[in-house]
Amino acid sequence: MKTVSSLLDDHWHERYRRISKLNIRSSIYDVTNRCNLRCKGCFFFSSDEHKAAPEEMDIKKWEAFVEKEKARGVNLAILIGGEPTLCFDRVEAFYERLSTFCATNGLIKVPRDRFPDMMIGISLWGDEADEQVLRGKDTFSISSKNYYGDPYTYYLYTITPKQIGKTGRVIRKIRDAGLKVHMQLLSNDEAVDGFSWRPHELSAIRAEMDAMLDAYPDTVISSKYYHEIITTGKMLDRPFGWMACPSVTITMDHRDPQPKRLTNFIRWASDLKTMHRCCTSETRDCATCKDGAAHMSWVMVNKRAHMRSTKDLQNWIEIYEMFAKLYQFIPW
Ligand code: SF4
Ligand code: SF4
Repeated sequence: MKTVSSLLDDHWHERYRRISKLNIRSSIYDVTNRCNLRCKGCFFFSSDEHKAAPEEMDIKKWEAFVEKEKARGVNLAILIGGEPTLCFDRVEAFYERLSTFCATNGLIKVPRDRFPDMMIGISLWGDEADEQVLRGKDTFSISSKNYYGDPYTYYLYTITPKQIGKTGRVIRKIRDAGLKVHMQLLSNDEAVDGFSWRPHELSAIRAEMDAMLDAYPDTVISSKYYHEIITTGKMLDRPFGWMACPSVTITMDHRDPQPKRLTNFIRWASDLKTMHRCCTSETRDCATCKDGAAHMSWVMVNKRAHMRSTKDLQNWIEIYEMFAKLYQFIPW
């Protein structure tokens, strides 16, 4: 039987040991139903998740809720929305109790005296032209000033088909702002013309993402195996989709057979009672889903399947390390 020890040399075994201790248990929280932007293709608004439940306004209820989540075993709170920075008191309810990651469009600066080491992921949807089309604003010019050189911040760069051949310039701008970047692909939930992926574009962007990782290893937080998985939608020849997805809310997961999944994962709406189906759009067709976190979690929960060869297990380790870096369970 193949074992971790028989597949890995000392170097890789040490890397494996470092991540195997982590035991990450995440859930996702809509902090608010409001946003100071309205991006075309935003999964939250396009699926009407902002109408799913009214926001809980009592901060004491947020604090009690986070305590209950902690008791449920959650050790990583991923805050999304809407725009979490519109409600710093709710963000603080999490930050004071749990490892917290805050997704933001970066237009409002998170005060570092109040949240000194909170991980921040700034959404970026391409270069200035793409951002104008999809978000009505060049957000980078504002967010890069707000977060210049911040050691706990990275850009979550959502790449669109129009970005092919242009990612280098965006990544250099991020490097020059003293920040890191992680890449994912647009799912185009609102079918904006020209922004849906075609097979040859997926091949091209895979090669380009690989080249970016080689060229800017200190800026890009990624792995080539991750690029393969999100562009092909396949892992070890298995297809991604509803029957494979690890990021389904536990109380709504009645799949049979049950796939490997995130332990006790729930995506909560901002009334703190309602739950959404999964980590992303309630209405998205899973066959078109390019969600980066769902794909990387898919790999992470399938360690055993990657124990068929040394290379497969090394690929698994690299994706786990990437995830752990993005949420600062290990340093960059
Ligand atoms: S900034 Fe984020 S939450 Fe707000 S509309 Fe854009 S994608 Fe949606
Ligand atoms: S839309 Fe994506 S994340 Fe949601 S259940 Fe389907 S595959 Fe999973």
